[in-house]
Amino acid sequence: LFNTFPREEERFEPIEEGVVRMYTCGQTVYDDVHVGNARTYVYWDTLRRYLEWKGFQVFHVQNITDVGHLTDDADQGEDKVEAAAREQGLEPMALVERQLERYYRDMEELNVERHYVEPRATCHVPEMIGTVQDILDNGYGYVREGNVYFDVFEFDEDYGYADMANMDLDEIEARPRVEEDPLKRNQADFALWLEAPEEHIMQWDSQWSVGYPGWHLECTAMSQKYLGDTIDIHGGGKDHIFPHHPNERAQAVAATGQEFANYWLHAGFLTVEGEKMSKSEGNFYTAREVVEEFSGEALRMYYLSTHYRKDTDFSFEEMENAEAKLERVRNFLASVEDTDGGSETYPEGEIEGLKAEFEDAMDDDLNTPRALQSVMRFIKEANKSLDNDPEVLRKAAEIVRELCGVLGLELGRKEEVDGRVVDLLLRQRERLRDEGRFEEADEIRDELSELGIEVQDTDEGFCWIKKN
Ligand SMILES: [Zn+2]
Repeated sequence: LFNTFPREEERFEPIEEGVVRMYTCGQTVYDDVHVGNARTYVYWDTLRRYLEWKGFQVFHVQNITDVGHLTDDADQGEDKVEAAAREQGLEPMALVERQLERYYRDMEELNVERHYVEPRATCHVPEMIGTVQDILDNGYGYVREGNVYFDVFEFDEDYGYADMANMDLDEIEARPRVEEDPLKRNQADFALWLEAPEEHIMQWDSQWSVGYPGWHLECTAMSQKYLGDTIDIHGGGKDHIFPHHPNERAQAVAATGQEFANYWLHAGFLTVEGEKMSKSEGNFYTAREVVEEFSGEALRMYYLSTHYRKDTDFSFEEMENAEAKLERVRNFLASVEDTDGGSETYPEGEIEGLKAEFEDAMDDDLNTPRALQSVMRFIKEANKSLDNDPEVLRKAAEIVRELCGVLGLELGRKEEVDGRVVDLLLRQRERLRDEGRFEEADEIRDELSELGIEVQDTDEGFCWIKKN
């Protein structure tokens, strides 16, 4: 894995054998997920799936920022949720609930699995207050009026502050700011806790003031709560290389004296026509818009066709290529099912070869485009020899399914089944059974099973569940 801190490719060694503890920065739920953020979430989901396939037990935590993310990413500006809610005439928490639901729906479309814990910032303010107190006790913070600040210079001397970003403190100190904060010792310091003006959305009680935590604090406190002081992998978008991740790390190390994460992974930017996506420029696409036009699976295929660290330009043309690629895989699987095969022997070694190639690519800093190329090349060859021994063909299809599954591409994923239709069929099945036509009744049960519906007969009649 390429570790941003210290900017080197390193062999991955987890702290505990066979277990991976991973934290990735999640969504601020004030707006629909745009194609850039969704891309990052798909990569971390792929990493987790791959590690699980390799036999690791993965504890993956990804937070949800409901409130607390300010418009300028640091400690100035307005709360993003508050600003969006006001614009739409909504209660902030009503906006959060709506966006959260839309977020989960989008992630489902992209086949991003639910995380081990998805902690919400507002549920962890006591933990954040605890972290601030630890930082103060260890001498890396100071209180000014009702605010608490992190002393970046003090920390830098002991642990190095912005090495991850390859920046030195003088450079950070000299950066232009919206406004100078006269309470700070140095302008490079950042807020851990801010006293809230009366109209501010967050009014939490603390030993310092009624106020709210700095945005960076939630990831530190929640990662440590659910995964321990030091974790294996910490991921996020490249925009987090400064200031979010150095701040997260500084808080964690200052609070515990332990290193925060062993591997820092950062995903590249997704641009549109060479420009950073922005709403005001009108070059802004939500994942939802793209999924509606194509499909979640096609969007996932599009993402994985580029390496996660690479910046890439979003284009509908590439989306069409991704869709065509998916089609080729589906066609291959369908042909294998349709063919009667023949007697020729297919070089079985190629199946093992594909697996090795795939693993080799994925082990190389999660090189999904190379892994996909191997699968596509294999399909191209296998397509030429569909008159092979059916058993071998079945194995070939199986490995393609398996490896695509590792990438989160579950080809021919089941369409949502309408519960009313299931009920209708099952009533029909009851009738057949009453008439003693058991074979036909069983046929309905078996076919539903193929659609992922499991029928259970009880004393009171039937019920059904969706199989996971
Ligand atoms: Zn974070």
